[in-house]
Amino acid sequence: MNNPGIVLTKKGVVVIDPGSSLQSGEMVLKKVATITKDPVIAVFNTHIHGDHWLGNDAIFRAYPKVVIYAHPKMMAKTTEAGPFWVGFMNQLTDNAVRGTKPVPPNLGIENDETLTLGGLHFKAYHSGHAHTDGDLMVEVVEEKVIFLGDNVIDRAVRRMDDGSFPGSVKACDLALSTKAEHFVPGHGNTNGRALVTSYRDFLNTLYQSVKKYQAKGLTDFEMKDKVVADLKPYQQWLNFNSEIGKFISLAYLEAERESF
Ligand SMILES: [Zn+2]
Repeated sequence: MNNPGIVLTKKGVVVIDPGSSLQSGEMVLKKVATITKDPVIAVFNTHIHGDHWLGNDAIFRAYPKVVIYAHPKMMAKTTEAGPFWVGFMNQLTDNAVRGTKPVPPNLGIENDETLTLGGLHFKAYHSGHAHTDGDLMVEVVEEKVIFLGDNVIDRAVRRMDDGSFPGSVKACDLALSTKAEHFVPGHGNTNGRALVTSYRDFLNTLYQSVKKYQAKGLTDFEMKDKVVADLKPYQQWLNFNSEIGKFISLAYLEAERESF
């Protein structure tokens, strides 16, 4: 479902978000084996949504001493969220991910911390509540690449249930403030800066449009067609028609909270 990242260092492999299940984590390890015989030495999990971290199970089974990094706020949620996500993934796949156990991260990392792993610098970014309240973006400095988690999605309208619209805009700006040239979203294709600016502008346009019509006294249902008209450049994005109503409702609730 997601974009697992594989980074080769002098001392071994670093994996970012090994996927949605034991089975997808095993596929990541199979892919790693086609590239190198080196072991996996570390994993980063970008956030609490299970499609990004349930693959930890496979890495942990193969490398029980592996260090799994995440933001402390993400780590605080795994006990409750793990069984939920295993159940949800089984439901989505007709039990194709049977046997997956939630293996939580074991070491916290905060904004602006930099780790040196096998000669490469891994820098962590967290801008507060964005896609969730515990997002981590990871820049591999020497490679000029940054893994964005779901703070950025490639041309799709996808899950903001736990997110903040202005917070996500802030996370996009933080990613753009790095020297990275390759931006890897949680889902969809990797690209240059345009990937991040277009997702940021989509969220910002939507949020400002909702605020504008809220100030005129319209409910989320009444403003839907007008907000959709303001989002013309994004109407061809994946899931736009099925998800935009929900996004407008979520933005409406957040704008309402913000105005109190
Ligand atoms: Zn997510």
